[in-house]
Amino acid sequence: MRTIQLTKRHQISLDNPLITENSLKKEEASDNGELVLLKDNRGKLIGTALLGQQQKGFGWLISDEAISDLQSLLPNLFARALKRRKDLFNQKDTTAFRLFNGEGDGLGGVTLDYYDGYGVISLYSKSIATYLNDIVHTLKEFTDVETGHPLIKGMVVKRRYQREKEAESEWVFGTPTSEPIIILENGVNYAVYLDDGWMTGIFLDQREVRKALKEQYSTKKDVLNVFSYTGAFSVAAAVGGANSTTSVDLANRTRALTEEQFDLNKIPITGQKVYVMDTFDYFKYASRHQLSYDLIICDPPSFARNKKKVFTVKKNYADLIADSVKILAPSGLLVLSTNAANFKASDFDRMITETLEQLGCSFQWVAKYGLPSDFPYPKASRLSQYLKVRMIKVDR
Ligand code: SAH
Repeated sequence: MRTIQLTKRHQISLDNPLITENSLKKEEASDNGELVLLKDNRGKLIGTALLGQQQKGFGWLISDEAISDLQSLLPNLFARALKRRKDLFNQKDTTAFRLFNGEGDGLGGVTLDYYDGYGVISLYSKSIATYLNDIVHTLKEFTDVETGHPLIKGMVVKRRYQREKEAESEWVFGTPTSEPIIILENGVNYAVYLDDGWMTGIFLDQREVRKALKEQYSTKKDVLNVFSYTGAFSVAAAVGGANSTTSVDLANRTRALTEEQFDLNKIPITGQKVYVMDTFDYFKYASRHQLSYDLIICDPPSFARNKKKVFTVKKNYADLIADSVKILAPSGLLVLSTNAANFKASDFDRMITETLEQLGCSFQWVAKYGLPSDFPYPKASRLSQYLKVRMIKVDR
């Protein structure tokens, strides 16, 4: 087992376990699942790290002690993660949530989502992928306390690192006879396709936002949902008594997926509009036709490119807000969301404040949402706390 001594001072600890690019020399990095002992610049043991290159960083600290193999840690790591989610397992009206959240559950680079009996495991480095069989073997051992049946009856793997020949998504065991699988979340049905690219049809980290839309904010409202993907926010709003919903997404295939969600919840499609369109074009169209909405939800990807331009949240979010305000009804509600890890919460809030002030709006912060409890994160790791959702009432 190699020992790696950091050359500079560092902040690496179990509360901030990411081994960043600048804390390690490039030639010391590896991608083969190697565990190393990490020492600080004075030679004091920091702990054991799993090296492996991912989008950000060179690996993760996994223990503050010296340990020699990861396999033997896995049963305890997953058992602890399952125990933390006991309440979610007991809920009758919610059947999908995150079971293991990478570094927040003690092992960076891997997440596991639970979809009514099925698991979706996402691997973020080649290094962690070398442990796939061990992880699957560990997970197969867990049983439902009441029925004694396996807790996870089938599992898909998503490989979210630079692959050579392997599939980006495939069933590892227990393929269901048909898809979609229908999950429940706070009493709302959603169709999910577990083996279809990297996404499944729903982002589980927005559960509390969908709940709030359904239970608090949508009754009798005209709702606009831009970057709507499968329309999950729209469906939550419609179930919550929205007068109408309008979903806008650039991707062609989102139309059928969105209509399917309404169908599943027996919501008549009249009153629900679905547009396959660029968000900024829709804003122009809506302004031209003097449409207005009581509630506008913006949840763009961190980065997107279409025929005309490149969208990045840091540069272009203010434009989204300005366009939204133009078609927001008096005392309307904006729901502004971003999952960009590099966009600090305080910077996001400042950008919102400055933009609304420049537009001459008076406004009130109504609610702030971050990651729900099944997405735990290490205390000092800002990059792990990526989700920021703000609800703002705007009086023009
Ligand atoms: N809000 C969604 C998730 C959005 S994912 C939810 O809660 O489920 C991002 C979506 O933005 C993708 O479906 C993508 O097709 C869409 N998208 C990217 N650029 C776009 C643009 N310029 N206009 C409209 N949609 C866009």
